[in-house]
Amino acid sequence: MTSKKEPFWKTKSLDQMTAEEWETLCDHCGLCCLQKVEDADTGEIKVVGLSCEYLDVEACRCLVYEDRKRVNPDCILLTADTVRHKKWLPETCAYRRLLEGKQLERWHHLVCGDLDSVHHEGISIRHKAISGVYIHPKDLEASLKELKDDDFEWS
Ligand code: SF4
Ligand code: SF4
Repeated sequence: MTSKKEPFWKTKSLDQMTAEEWETLCDHCGLCCLQKVEDADTGEIKVVGLSCEYLDVEACRCLVYEDRKRVNPDCILLTADTVRHKKWLPETCAYRRLLEGKQLERWHHLVCGDLDSVHHEGISIRHKAISGVYIHPKDLEASLKELKDDDFEWS
């Protein structure tokens, strides 16, 4: 009798995953590539419906992924440690879910086998967020101020 091997996300912690396993875990919802605004009084980080200028908001893919930190020094590279500390990661984020001891969602591509499921289920930012490419850097602050009172619909 052969025993079925459990998938890596059920047997390894985030710290134990290989680089390849780590990358494949991302569902490409695009939510972590939305701009964030910090409340000056409370320090609370609010995510708004405007993406980083380097995100293709339809594909929900970074256009400069391999070189992202050089191109965009503000880009936060996700590691097990950053996942632990970045409270603004959405509850649907695979890394956050595993860190919290939860299972991957049924629509996650590693579970259902369909990379488009995250879009079909309305989890991703596709058709929801404005692309940062349309905002001139000089207007970014004003745009963020305007957007900060809107509740971005996570899913
Ligand atoms: S929020 Fe998580 S799952 Fe979604 S794109 Fe970012 S890292 Fe990937
Ligand atoms: S540089 Fe790429 S990975 Fe970083 S926030 Fe922008 S779109 Fe996301």
